Amino acid sequence: MMKVIKTIKEMQRIADKLREEGKKIAVVPTMGYLHEGHTSLMKIAREHSDFVITTLFVNPTQFAPHEDFTTYPRNFDRDFRIAEEHGCDILFNPEVDEMYPHGFATSIKINNVTEKFEGEKRPGHFDGVATVVCKLFTATKAHFGVFGQKDVQQTIVIKKLVDDLNLDIKIIVAPTLRQSDGLAMSSRNVYLSVKDRTRSSILYSALTKAKDAIEKGEKRRKIINAIMHAELRTIHSIKLDYAMSADVETLDEPEEYLPGQHIVMMIACFLGKTRLIDNMLATIPSGISEHPEKFEEM
Ligand code: AMP
Repeated sequence: MMKVIKTIKEMQRIADKLREEGKKIAVVPTMGYLHEGHTSLMKIAREHSDFVITTLFVNPTQFAPHEDFTTYPRNFDRDFRIAEEHGCDILFNPEVDEMYPHGFATSIKINNVTEKFEGEKRPGHFDGVATVVCKLFTATKAHFGVFGQKDVQQTIVIKKLVDDLNLDIKIIVAPTLRQSDGLAMSSRNVYLSVKDRTRSSILYSALTKAKDAIEKGEKRRKIINAIMHAELRTIHSIKLDYAMSADVETLDEPEEYLPGQHIVMMIACFLGKTRLIDNMLATIPSGISEHPEKFEEM
């Protein structure tokens, strides 16, 4: 039977006991309204640990005042059932006052990797993310933290947080789960109108087209980005925040990528009032054939 824990003290007491018993703890931070993307993270967490804690906390400090904090989809009973069905041991579900009591005054600000893309479009967002994730780590005392590739810049920021503050936790990044038409699963997808839901697969097709071009030898960043823009522009009602590519670790944006370089293509846009983000990884071909058997045939 999965337990619901509401306070940080109680969470830490349980974590201390588990650690004394030599158990490995994994944490899966979420904002709830769970879907298969989240449950895939729980499965990976289970593979790495003896005890899985899913956290359910819609963190107000990572939303700007004009963003969708109040309308973010919430359904505790549904989330409880899904987390329990997927073998979570604890659902850590603190109230806002528990995480940010009166007088709370700390904010973790990470520089550089937060300054572009999501960070530029959502000022302060990653300060909120870094601070809450750090608190979730210290509350759960987890050995492993599992995060989705879907929020690629978030994974970069959290790895930086862990490195820079010497947090004793290993970060695992899990692949993006998609609907059959390619739309990345997201709690916010429930707010898409029927028409926008149909249109929303354009993010995946734009990313796929750019990746195809890279695999055929395209290295010029501006061309790669233009391929995504051209595809996205076929849907007139899209309001694009960005469609860009960058080095997957540093987020640097050279004019031309180098052979062997690992890059990420990222899109953020609005369909109606719903903001969607997605990304895809690609590696610039090294020039050495990955199919040596083809030469043997010659
Ligand atoms: P959220 O509840 O949206 O804050 O997401 C919680 C965690 O689930 C984050 O680490 C996300 O990156 C991850 N996640 C969200 N959507 C997906 C998806 N479609 N596939 C895999 N992981 C996801």
